[in-house]
Amino acid sequence: MSTASARMATAAVYEAPNAPFVLKQFPLRSVRHGEVLVRASMSTICRSDIHSYEGRRPNPCPGILGHEIIGVIVEIGQGIERDMRGDPLKIGDRITWSEYFSDGQCYYREILDMPQKCEGLRKYGHDLATQDPHFLGGFAEYCYILPGTFILKLPPDLRDEEATPLNCGVATMASVTEVAEIGLGDAIVIQGLGLLGLYGAAMAKARGARCVIGLDAVPARLEIAKKFGVDHTIDVSRNDVPSMIARVRALCPPDGADAVIEVCGIPEVLPQGLQMLRIGGRYAIAGLVNSEAHVTIDANMLVRRWITMRGVHNYHPRHLIQALDFVMANRNRFPFTEIVDAKFALKDLDTAFKKAAERTVLRAAVVP
Ligand SMILES: [Zn+2]
Repeated sequence: MSTASARMATAAVYEAPNAPFVLKQFPLRSVRHGEVLVRASMSTICRSDIHSYEGRRPNPCPGILGHEIIGVIVEIGQGIERDMRGDPLKIGDRITWSEYFSDGQCYYREILDMPQKCEGLRKYGHDLATQDPHFLGGFAEYCYILPGTFILKLPPDLRDEEATPLNCGVATMASVTEVAEIGLGDAIVIQGLGLLGLYGAAMAKARGARCVIGLDAVPARLEIAKKFGVDHTIDVSRNDVPSMIARVRALCPPDGADAVIEVCGIPEVLPQGLQMLRIGGRYAIAGLVNSEAHVTIDANMLVRRWITMRGVHNYHPRHLIQALDFVMANRNRFPFTEIVDAKFALKDLDTAFKKAAERTVLRAAVVP
């Protein structure tokens, strides 16, 4: 079990906000009890990695960013025998794992069944690269999986492009579409057609929605959205707010959408979304992950129109299983591989981040 000891491996290190990544070597050590070491197969750049890189979200430096990761097990520690579903794990298995981990007792986990909001929760891509075990992020050749992580084995025929976003974007949308209570015959509005919005549209259709309306300002996203179950797109850069609200309400007779999902990260869209909902409608808010997302709403609408607004952050471990099963069941219906539309080597991480930040690619992948 000591094959990894005394070897060095490479990571693209985040040294300071907006500074170029620096390729550095750190030692690999043997796994300890409850740990797994994987050779990273692919990592994708999530919007929150860009927030970290741009200094809008605190992240330790020097660190290794990246939490949407898949990899192949090269070492497996004592105490790890099966994945979260009970399937046996062995060296050579390709796996995904929860973007977060936590150990020890926690009120939110044990009592309220909200492990995703555990006190002391840690996330991959948020640790100092200079400290043991060095490799805890996606933009590196290896990653250690620490105790308290939920591991899920990947089916061999699932492509890396389909598997890599599972543990962040796709699992989050399993949680969001559950909170939005999307059911048979519903009309759904999705504000933002990045990876989250596209998977959200596909899941809404899989959950039985009759109509999905997608809003974005990027022409390429509005175009590809049609392949992911979006029936009607609205270009927010070419329409004023009253006409967008009128259009949505006309497309969702008799009184507006059953649910609106915000995944665009722009607080100003909330008052618009409220006016697109029918009486008794549900509003799931998941994109406003940065602080100071202030916005003014007419709370009288919530009362008189029986609107439910709910925030969603992270996901329950069951959503990771749901995400995988959803993709496996619907990969012939929706071209998920097209969402990961650019691949970069570790040494080209600066270019990958630049393209992801300016939205000229949908989901940039790094193949270390
Ligand atoms: Zn993410």
